[in-house]
Amino acid sequence: MKRLGVLGWPVAHSRSPAMQNAALAHLGLRDWHYQRLPVPPELFDETVRALPAAGFVGANVTIPHKEAALALATDATPAARAIGAANTLTFGPGDAIHAANTDAPGLIAALDDAGFAARGRVALVLGAGGSARAAIWALYDAGAARVLVWNRTAERAQRLAVELGAEAVPRPEGADLLVNCTSVGLADGEFKSLPLDADSLGNYATVADLVYRAGGTGLVAEARRRGCSVVDGLEILVRQGALSLTAWTGREAPVDAMRESARGSSPDEHDPGTSNAPDGRAADERRPG
Ligand code: NAP
Repeated sequence: MKRLGVLGWPVAHSRSPAMQNAALAHLGLRDWHYQRLPVPPELFDETVRALPAAGFVGANVTIPHKEAALALATDATPAARAIGAANTLTFGPGDAIHAANTDAPGLIAALDDAGFAARGRVALVLGAGGSARAAIWALYDAGAARVLVWNRTAERAQRLAVELGAEAVPRPEGADLLVNCTSVGLADGEFKSLPLDADSLGNYATVADLVYRAGGTGLVAEARRRGCSVVDGLEILVRQGALSLTAWTGREAPVDAMRESARGSSPDEHDPGTSNAPDGRAADERRPG
């Protein structure tokens, strides 16, 4: 059995297991399986180092481990290093752990699909966390003329702007593209805590929301109502997952099958075979991370 998984804390909400297992089945890779790997931060390094011996070929990495994953890796792509975070680990040969970031090209692929080419365009990124870093880097890499960044905690936006060459703004400004990289919308779908009202969404031709949740987000729904071209968080999830799958299997990812599974699977779906750490130790997600 060749094993894959997603390391996170918590990770019960992740749609990656359903999506990746659908892709593996579609490709006829019947001896491969993808599972949730709930791992608290204090066990992250130890668990990752134990994965290859337990049959793991690679793993996705999500909140809060993306920076730790890069730090642990024996080598990393230039993009992962520039972003400062990795969401894809590939094991071997030997003790090698290769880190990559597919969040960045995944966003660009999802935008491409929606007919948005970043070259020469102006983008506004909301947020200054890990996904904002990946988005800013990706947009510049794809040729954006300017990337503006707004964050609730302004100093974080200023630091990120200096580091990645973006422009911190005190309030959202109009742009060709709006990318929500905050976690606003995750809990209740609302975007009231962002300094954007529904009318102001007309200032953006394209709106991308990294947040995904059952029933969609208010930002996506309102942007659609305003006639914006929209990229939702599930599409971005699919695109980053497709790139990770190809890195592990060498096969072209069945994007349509992955999309169908991601859109159809419940975030609460629980895979009973995945609630233990690979060494058999119970990893209780209710413990504070
Ligand atoms: P993160 O590093 O924890 O950053 C969270 C960001 O949200 C920070 O900028 C924070 O601002 C901001 N924020 C939190 N609550 C806020 C509020 N009430 N009002 C305004 N801003 C608020 O998280 P991340 O890794 O960047 O991820 C952000 C979101 O993207 C998460 O929901 C995650 O699930 C999603 N995501 C989706 C994908 C995908 O494939 N679709 C990939 C990656 C991430 P402060 O600095 O002021 O705290």
